Amino acid sequence: MTRTPRLSGWVGAAVAVLLCWPAVGAMAGGSVMTPTITGRVAETPFAGRSQAIGSAANGCLAGAEALPPSGPGWETLRLERNRFWGHPETIAFLRDMAARIERPGRILIGDIAQPRGGHMTSGHGSHQTGLDADILFRLADRDLTDAERADPVMDGVVNDDGSLIPELWGAPQVALLKTFAADPRVERIFVNPTIKRALCDSVAGDRSWLRVIRPWWGHQEHFHVRLHCPDGDGACIPGATLPPGDGCGEELTSWITTGDWKGRPRPPLPQQHNHRPEMPAACRSILSAY
Ligand SMILES: [Zn+2]
Repeated sequence: MTRTPRLSGWVGAAVAVLLCWPAVGAMAGGSVMTPTITGRVAETPFAGRSQAIGSAANGCLAGAEALPPSGPGWETLRLERNRFWGHPETIAFLRDMAARIERPGRILIGDIAQPRGGHMTSGHGSHQTGLDADILFRLADRDLTDAERADPVMDGVVNDDGSLIPELWGAPQVALLKTFAADPRVERIFVNPTIKRALCDSVAGDRSWLRVIRPWWGHQEHFHVRLHCPDGDGACIPGATLPPGDGCGEELTSWITTGDWKGRPRPPLPQQHNHRPEMPAACRSILSAY
């Protein structure tokens, strides 16, 4: 059985395409300090109308709402990281998803966003506008202890040879992904290419929900869900429109045949992108107004 390695902290967040998770051990016991504008992260939301501003990889969030540590069908992980904030539409979405999970199952929710979104020094290049969330493939069936919540088991579901681990991957995981992917609020979901291939090979009947599920580096112990820009959030920049179809054709084949994602949680950092794009003007005030 493959156990996903604990990742060390990642600070080269320049690449707009980078996504998610990690740095599990790196954050233990330490406060989350981020070189935003002022050199630190606000610990409270920016008051005012809720708004996602900018893009997932270069933006911020006003009027964030906190996801409680637990509720009907969910448990929130790693509270000490203070990344359980989201756009109110994201929080409502996660509550809806949790309510749809068959009991006693409950979803395990990792990072959403910081209280005002923005760039994080560890683990993510996105999650900046409060519209992204990480969900473990593993479901819980009871309340978590404080220790389980603070240091959750992070087993990957993919073997080194590219097969899926039967004890960790099965009908509950497919159902979980379908629950999320079939919701019209979802813009895209990132999973390991092995998982996308397994879905392409096995899902019968309605396959329309496969379209939003996109292959990406890492993402073998969790998936990353990103919501569409909420109506009325005029400064929110959506992601590129997905190509038509279920995504099981050429694009997936190129991931599988290239294979350069194997064993890598994220793409290599291109040297030419070692600068950060300019932050939206509104974010400059939101992230620096304490
Ligand atoms: Zn993520």
